Amino acid sequence: MTIHPSKLSFVARKRYGLATAECAFDPELHTGPTDKNEGQEEKAARLAVAAEVCLACPVMTQCLDRAITGRPEPGVWGAFEAEALGALFVGALDVPARTGRVTVPSSGYRATTMAHRARSGGA
Ligand code: SF4
Repeated sequence: MTIHPSKLSFVARKRYGLATAECAFDPELHTGPTDKNEGQEEKAARLAVAAEVCLACPVMTQCLDRAITGRPEPGVWGAFEAEALGALFVGALDVPARTGRVTVPSSGYRATTMAHRARSGGA
């Protein structure tokens, strides 16, 4: 699981090109309260503010790159929720070579993995 930039130490953020991550100032804004007590409206408001912070973040590109090349832990990454990024980019990896068309499987990672294994002759 790829750790959210807001939870990384400064040294680790620097290593990943995320030294100036805006979320480092308030990690719970992007990953949620640690006590898990958050109502729906409260969560929606928090996610909206987190997305705004991301849109002004100088390392948004690096953040999204890290999110889509790993398995991002829950939270807001580059103005997207981790679950949404997973659905988008796992599907984007399943690109038919001849048509170039991007297909997004409705059943997500498992379906994509099984299709890849079937094509490559694996179990
Ligand atoms: S884009 Fe958002 S989640 Fe990513 S480093 Fe910046 S503030 Fe944090």
